[in-house]
Amino acid sequence: PAESGACLDIVGLSKRFGGVYAVRDVTLRCGAGEILGLIGPNGAGKSTLINLITGTLRPDTGKVTMDGRVMNGMSVPECARAGIGRTFQNIRLFANLDVRQNVEVAHTTASRHREGGPELHEIDDLLARMGLLSLADRQATTLPYGLQRRLEIARALALAPSYLLLDEPAAGMNDAESEQLVDLIQKIREDFGCGVIVIEHDLRFIRRVCERVAVLHMGEILTIGSPEAVLNDPRVIEVYIGA
Ligand code: ADP
Ligand code: MG
Repeated sequence: PAESGACLDIVGLSKRFGGVYAVRDVTLRCGAGEILGLIGPNGAGKSTLINLITGTLRPDTGKVTMDGRVMNGMSVPECARAGIGRTFQNIRLFANLDVRQNVEVAHTTASRHREGGPELHEIDDLLARMGLLSLADRQATTLPYGLQRRLEIARALALAPSYLLLDEPAAGMNDAESEQLVDLIQKIREDFGCGVIVIEHDLRFIRRVCERVAVLHMGEILTIGSPEAVLNDPRVIEVYIGA
């Protein structure tokens, strides 16, 4: 396994929109190479939390560090180069580029800025690992939906992230695709040594892929623990039934 793993520490993170807290005093310590699930009803603040960690949004208060290095105040590309990879709730591929070019763009950025950093996987090796090599010359947006999601993950991996943040990667997938994604995420952790934070509504998926689960509710962490403990927690069940 690669040794790109790092601890991601989120301490006292808050973000308000107008007068309303989207994320409120969130503290979350993510271990190197951990697969952490992030769940909660719509509007709980999950995507906002990822946007705060990746530099898309600036927090009002709080701190994000990776292996002690302060990430706050970094721009999106700086966060990416520092080792935080992400995918979006809505797929964002370069529509006019083919599959290989979509990964190449990220890879080029990474190699320009990360000399001496973690070893970068060659593009075709990465595509092969992701089951996309035979589709390398296809225009990205002509791929079936599940494979576009895969390509988004491949693109994030081209920057050799220490932490990979996936926002609803199984959304819109059928059962077979979602099943394959469970295996893929575990393989990514093995192959790349990165930690993974995965937001997902499908609790069966979360139970299968995650070692720990954090529940967000109205911007705050309701509980964190093993999937068994969290998904059987009456407070969590209430939040979902009440949603
Ligand atoms: P989730 O991903 O858990 O569904 P979000 O993080 O998208 O939740 O949203 C959390 C809350 O913050 C919601 O009330 C949402 O309406 C609000 N919100 C998110 N982004 C913005 C924004 N850019 N401007 C104003 N309000 C926002
Ligand atoms: Mg969201």
